[in-house]
Amino acid sequence: MEATFSSEQARALDAADPLAHFRQRFAFPEPDLIYLDGNSLGRLPLASEALAHELVTRQWGERLIRSWNEGWFTLPARIGGKLAQLVGAAPEEVVIADATSVNLFKLAVAALQQQRGRTRILTDDLNFPSDLYVLQGVIETLNAGHQLEIIPSVDGVHGPVDALLARLDDDVALVVLSHTVFKSGYVYDMAAITAAVHASGALVLWDLSHSAGSVPVDLAGAGADLAIGCTYKYINGGPGAPAFLYVRRDLQPLLQNPISGWMGQHAPFDFDLTYVAEPGMRHFLTGTPPVLSLALIEPGVDLLLDAGMAALRAKSVQQTEYFISLWETMLAPLGYTLNSPRRSAWRSSHVSLRHAEAWRINQALIHELNVLPDFRAPDTIRLGMAPLYTTFIDLYRAAERLRCAVEARLYARYENRRTAVT
Ligand SMILES: *Cc1c(COP(=O)(O)O)cnc(C)c1O
Repeated sequence: MEATFSSEQARALDAADPLAHFRQRFAFPEPDLIYLDGNSLGRLPLASEALAHELVTRQWGERLIRSWNEGWFTLPARIGGKLAQLVGAAPEEVVIADATSVNLFKLAVAALQQQRGRTRILTDDLNFPSDLYVLQGVIETLNAGHQLEIIPSVDGVHGPVDALLARLDDDVALVVLSHTVFKSGYVYDMAAITAAVHASGALVLWDLSHSAGSVPVDLAGAGADLAIGCTYKYINGGPGAPAFLYVRRDLQPLLQNPISGWMGQHAPFDFDLTYVAEPGMRHFLTGTPPVLSLALIEPGVDLLLDAGMAALRAKSVQQTEYFISLWETMLAPLGYTLNSPRRSAWRSSHVSLRHAEAWRINQALIHELNVLPDFRAPDTIRLGMAPLYTTFIDLYRAAERLRCAVEARLYARYENRRTAVT
């Protein structure tokens, strides 16, 4: 792309965007706000606003406990079954429950129990820290001599594929990776890694939190064993919405849920005193589902299915490429460096920039430039392109404001003190 960018050009790209109309299906109470944090908390679908009202006033307020038999009880499997289409799984292979971290605990323990005799767990240092904390807790809990090997990335951007593959042998029990890396947006080749892990006899668990609804995922095609992921990022499920978990069909009867609660019991309302697992995916459930936040995941899933992952991916690639071109001409001269893969096949739907003044620039963007990106310590600004509603003019203006924050030294008015949530 030549180095002449303009708002007219950005508007022309929006006019040619076949997915542009999806923006009208989201709430935009502040039309001028440039929201580039859909990779952290997706926007509110208008259908979710209406559904929240219906859930509270009619399903809860009027129907009361009768609602359990009018759809609530089957929500984890029904919405999971729909979400399965976004990640290339069969409907019987996905349920919704708990937080991503809790699901990781359940599946990692289940996998390690099944892989007795093997002691090593491989991951990388680009993984989401909560995943590492959970794995450390799993090892403490099992107290069976497992070891966590955290393979370092060479450049902090790309996954350490060769080093990881070199560590695979018959002592590795489980490989746990974020399919999309949360800081740089690097995407692993799921099929290739899964095949290599299987050749060593180990199992692989993919964290799809930054992939679901952002990049096409084909769990079945890759033959993936296990997966988890959250629903409040690109799926637009709402703050703290419960997460999903996937177990390949043939593994379901072989793996036990270590938090064996009544929702996973084959007949929970018999109130038997002994746990007998439901054979299918339902035995990975534990307690009563959070109906309100669970039900509110569905409108976001419907929007993604409606748009189609292939079309969403095409727009996402176009938008991240466009933004990287803007960075190259407008921002690189001002000390911003690119912290995401240049190759689009290796990049998901956000672009990370680093800058020595990232924290204070971020403050200036939020407080006076009407841009909401997010900040990841120590010096990274992430700009998330959510193809259902991000426009090219948003991206052009965001680049202009990132330039202005440095050129006009707007950041210098802010302190270097962090808030509790970044
Ligand atoms: C956002 C995210 C999570 C979220 O975990 P919760 O337990 O649902 O808070 C987990 N893993 C990754 C890779 C994430 O990006």
